[in-house]
Amino acid sequence: PHVLTERGIFRYEQVTYPMEERGLQFGDGVYEVVRLYSGAYVWLQEHLDRLYRSAAAIRLSVPFAPEELSERLEQLRRMNDVREDAILYLQVTRGSFPRSHTFPTENRPNLYAYIQPMARKTDEIAHGVHATLTKDVRWEYCYIKSLNLLPNVLAKQEAAERGAFEAILHRDGIVTEGSSSNIFLVKDETVYTHPATERILNGIVRTRVKQFCGELGIPFIEEAFSVHDLARADELFLTSTTSAITPIVQVDDITIGDGRPGAVTKSLQAAYQKATQPAASN
Ligand code: PLP
Repeated sequence: PHVLTERGIFRYEQVTYPMEERGLQFGDGVYEVVRLYSGAYVWLQEHLDRLYRSAAAIRLSVPFAPEELSERLEQLRRMNDVREDAILYLQVTRGSFPRSHTFPTENRPNLYAYIQPMARKTDEIAHGVHATLTKDVRWEYCYIKSLNLLPNVLAKQEAAERGAFEAILHRDGIVTEGSSSNIFLVKDETVYTHPATERILNGIVRTRVKQFCGELGIPFIEEAFSVHDLARADELFLTSTTSAITPIVQVDDITIGDGRPGAVTKSLQAAYQKATQPAASN
């Protein structure tokens, strides 16, 4: 496979990083994950917009201008001859310099991006998943898609060890989001989710769900709900680039609704399917 870097496109084995890389030593960088279905990028522009916003928030410059970056990512896709379902991983870091907390005086950011196959999570999407509740111990700027993922890693690991697919994070009982997803509650045919404040990452799929709700006439309320509301929820689901719209049927020992994916979730899944069909599917 090929990798795009700030210096051009190289073979995977050719790309190595020095010890004193600020991404490694400080997590000083931002990233994106973009879906590809049947070899086509899904909502690439939205992801790139968010990448530049995240970078600006930490005063980091992305090595390429937006149009050039999308051209290069297209080139990367062609060179890898991607035809299947996959993801693109892209990160920008503040570069390699002798270790010091303060910014380097020179502007020499590093970028790399590569594509790896990833099948659709068909089983989870069809039947739903279990989740656990965990305290949200992250910093206050979760709207930045930064490389500092230790709290997310620990939460997801704890969930996995309890046999769950995702960790639902809460701050003082208020559900914020998942360790790598946004969380939505359905009650009386209305969808609720945490508002897009600095406390959550405003997911690209989250934004689409808001749009689908508008199109389908489903009330969409950006109002936080609490862990106590889970017991009274009709449906619960998560969204992310890798997991699309996935029903949550159990949270710790609380069964959601009748323990099966609900009608609102299914209609949103259908809208997602329709929106992500390759434009020229013939
Ligand atoms: N929230 C967090 C913390 C995430 O890491 C992610 C994605 O990985 C999301 C939400 C969902 O965002 P998106 O729909 O853009 O993938």
